[in-house]
Amino acid sequence: MMLSKVTKIATGITLTFGAILGSIDPASAYSYRTCNGNKLVYGSGWTNMYISTTSMPPGSSWDTALQNMMYEWNAVPRSRFNFYVGRDTDGRHSKSNGRNEVYFTSIDGRGGTLAVTYTRWSFCFFSSSIQETDIAFDSGESWYTGAPSYTSSSRSFRLVALHEFGHALGLGHEDRSLETMNSFYPNGGPIGRFRSAAPHADSRQGVRYLYPQSGSSVRDLAACNYKRTGSGTTGLNIQPTIAYRGRSVNLQYTFENLGTVTSNFNIGFYLSTNDYISTYDRLLGTNYGAWASAGYTGTFNRSLYIPTSVTPGTYYIGVLLDRSGTVAETNESNNNLAAVNRVVVR
Ligand SMILES: [Zn+2]
Repeated sequence: MMLSKVTKIATGITLTFGAILGSIDPASAYSYRTCNGNKLVYGSGWTNMYISTTSMPPGSSWDTALQNMMYEWNAVPRSRFNFYVGRDTDGRHSKSNGRNEVYFTSIDGRGGTLAVTYTRWSFCFFSSSIQETDIAFDSGESWYTGAPSYTSSSRSFRLVALHEFGHALGLGHEDRSLETMNSFYPNGGPIGRFRSAAPHADSRQGVRYLYPQSGSSVRDLAACNYKRTGSGTTGLNIQPTIAYRGRSVNLQYTFENLGTVTSNFNIGFYLSTNDYISTYDRLLGTNYGAWASAGYTGTFNRSLYIPTSVTPGTYYIGVLLDRSGTVAETNESNNNLAAVNRVVVR
């Protein structure tokens, strides 16, 4: 039975019921789960996720966050995959009842495991269809359900849910880039100035590979305040907190290509009195000729000279991708991004 399609309103460990072989498409970094070399996917291209009404009552912030994260996967252009939402009302869960259940359970308190995705499949030799995927979130963790924060010591339920849903649709861990499917929290962190918990560039390529859908090219550049710091790990970009007029500061920034084709663009660097970086702000510099292939994410450093004519005070500093607006993008609101901390100009 197909239920209502989800509309907009973890780090985890993958425990499997069979041997899993990591498999990498040589052209891209994303990894996906396999059985005997076959991609593990939902053959129909969609599946129902049954949210526990005991753990996450309908209308609760948990429920809203889960549905929004399913929607983010559904909304990836040029992927035909869709999650649908159902309700698990019996207060129980089983890894072998054929229903994809989402629930809270006690895993390890405030330990290293935030959530676990359990996957089961059968007829591996003939079919690689996933039979069931359950997602358990650790009830012992300190969670919050709103937009991801750069500073909270609690865990973003949205970022972890997005990661686990990525496992649920067939993606594996990808530690070679800043990624939603990165092993360790915060799994690449949020994107853009609205701190969107949404699939990063490489994960988008991964879901497109598993569930391809033909169509025209998609262009979408995005900025992020996180960077890859090592295998599986991520951290905030290093950004200045003090600047002196007549001297330069170093700004670290990350951009990614969420689209399906290579884009060429320029990057503006600005000093702003508010956190909305725009062409109305004071331009400190421009990088011309930047380009990013589909699925690419990169972190760079930019030295920026602070003119002596700047009035001393506290400012936001940040980037505006495609500042001249020459790339027509599916989402234009994730191009501008202020650094996490404001900078004091002296
Ligand atoms: Zn994981």
